[in-house]
Amino acid sequence: MSRAAQESRGIAPELLARYEAVIGLEVHVQLKTASKVFCACSTRFGDPPNTNVCPVCLGLPGTLPVLNRRALELAMRAALAFHCIVREHSRFARKNYFYPDLPKGYQISMYELPLATGGWLEIEWNDTRKRIGITRLHMEEDAAKNLHEGFSDSDRKSYIDYNRCGVPLVEIVSEPDLRSPAEAYAYLNTLKQVLEYTEVSDCNMEEGSLRCDANVSVRRRGAEEFGTKAEVKNLNSFRYLQRALEYEIERHIGVLESGGRIEQETRLWNVAGGRTESMRTKEFAHDYRYFPEPDLLPVRVSAAWKEEILKLMPELPDARRARFIGNYGMTPYDAGVLTDTHALADYFEAVVRAGAPAKTAANWIQTELLRRLNDAGKEINGSPVAPAALAELLKLVESGQITAASGKKVFAKMFETGQPAGPIIAAEGLTQISDTAKIERACREVMANNPENVARYRAGNEGVFKFFVGQVMRATRGQANPQVVNDILKRLLG
Ligand code: ADP
Ligand code: ZN
Ligand code: MG
Repeated sequence: MSRAAQESRGIAPELLARYEAVIGLEVHVQLKTASKVFCACSTRFGDPPNTNVCPVCLGLPGTLPVLNRRALELAMRAALAFHCIVREHSRFARKNYFYPDLPKGYQISMYELPLATGGWLEIEWNDTRKRIGITRLHMEEDAAKNLHEGFSDSDRKSYIDYNRCGVPLVEIVSEPDLRSPAEAYAYLNTLKQVLEYTEVSDCNMEEGSLRCDANVSVRRRGAEEFGTKAEVKNLNSFRYLQRALEYEIERHIGVLESGGRIEQETRLWNVAGGRTESMRTKEFAHDYRYFPEPDLLPVRVSAAWKEEILKLMPELPDARRARFIGNYGMTPYDAGVLTDTHALADYFEAVVRAGAPAKTAANWIQTELLRRLNDAGKEINGSPVAPAALAELLKLVESGQITAASGKKVFAKMFETGQPAGPIIAAEGLTQISDTAKIERACREVMANNPENVARYRAGNEGVFKFFVGQVMRATRGQANPQVVNDILKRLLG
């Protein structure tokens, strides 16, 4: 069988089921600091190329790096959030390789003494929870960005933007505990959520502040030993991660089933082709000649410092979910939606703090607000309706001053204009009608116009009652107090 045929898609499901995937992820995360890890240059994204550079991050001779304390603290916070052991001693090393994105000729990275080891992250998938081991978390600096496209002479030249060079990263390496692309997806998603909650990183995949390499192998179900793995690089979206893993798993099975062997290699996800491609085999693996970085002191972390970092640890997603279920009587599903991001959970709690009933707030946020934000392509932080304004509206609905139906119309206007509820209700004349005389007049009118339905009701067809309620609500433009309408109709029809 040709190599191309071996790699073709569409492995039979029975065959797929005979194998099990083994996956481990290496995730690079940009730490949310104002300045770079070893110099004072800004980390701002999107600035003109080569404007945030200095002799240190350009690797000029005679310069010395100084560790950014804030970067170390954020790395420690991440490590502790993932239940790692933060080592008392860790050390930076030089990872040597020659490439234009690396002006010093080496990357400063922790190697044999990483900052933290032995943690875990709990994921939920298919209603089951599973702990994924975290092997290590270490600090390193980012490299520059090569610009191979977009210039008139791009066919002959490549350009380099050194703004990213020296931006602080942590690399988080998982144990090979993941067993499917879906689990890998859940892991990355949960990891991202924790990093956002703890404000360690923006985790913006488009801007490259979260990048993922995936290691994948397959083995026959029931086998103990792992198969040979391939490492897939360049997975800068959740979709690519999942698709690349699916592709690789099928490729491995195809090769093994046709009697071949998997070569240990590094592969690249080809976005346009929707496939992975070999980048280098083990034979050509880099020898990075790691050695301890002589220009930086070893990193020492005292127990007291760890305590301090722990004390400042924000509430983590799992704890917040549990609290929402316990404190507000939410279903696990609702709690999951409302704690999706730190900002959304904050928004919900601000609405409740401003006096809205939790249940109503949870409902309205999930239906009215999230739908509109989504349609408008806005984030919760950019919501035109502030928490206090939503609370005010919900209190008006709760106290019966406007109907829920009117409330939704008012909300739409609030979202559109950014105005508070009061003026909109006044301008649209949406105050709920509880005036019994007015409602009674409307009821009588509807009955007079529908004598045959009145007769039907009186002959025992109680189903017609809903028709009358609907007609009265319509006649009052949804503003009549539904309870009063019910009472009056019962009396008049009875
Ligand atoms: P390497 O020496 O190639 O860097 P490591 O042992 O450091 O390999 O592991 C790197 C990543 O690969 C980790 O996330 C780990 O969980 C994962 N990994 C290791 N062995 C396998 C395997 N056989 N199949 C899938 N993933 C693996
Ligand atoms: Zn610099
Ligand atoms: Mg490794």
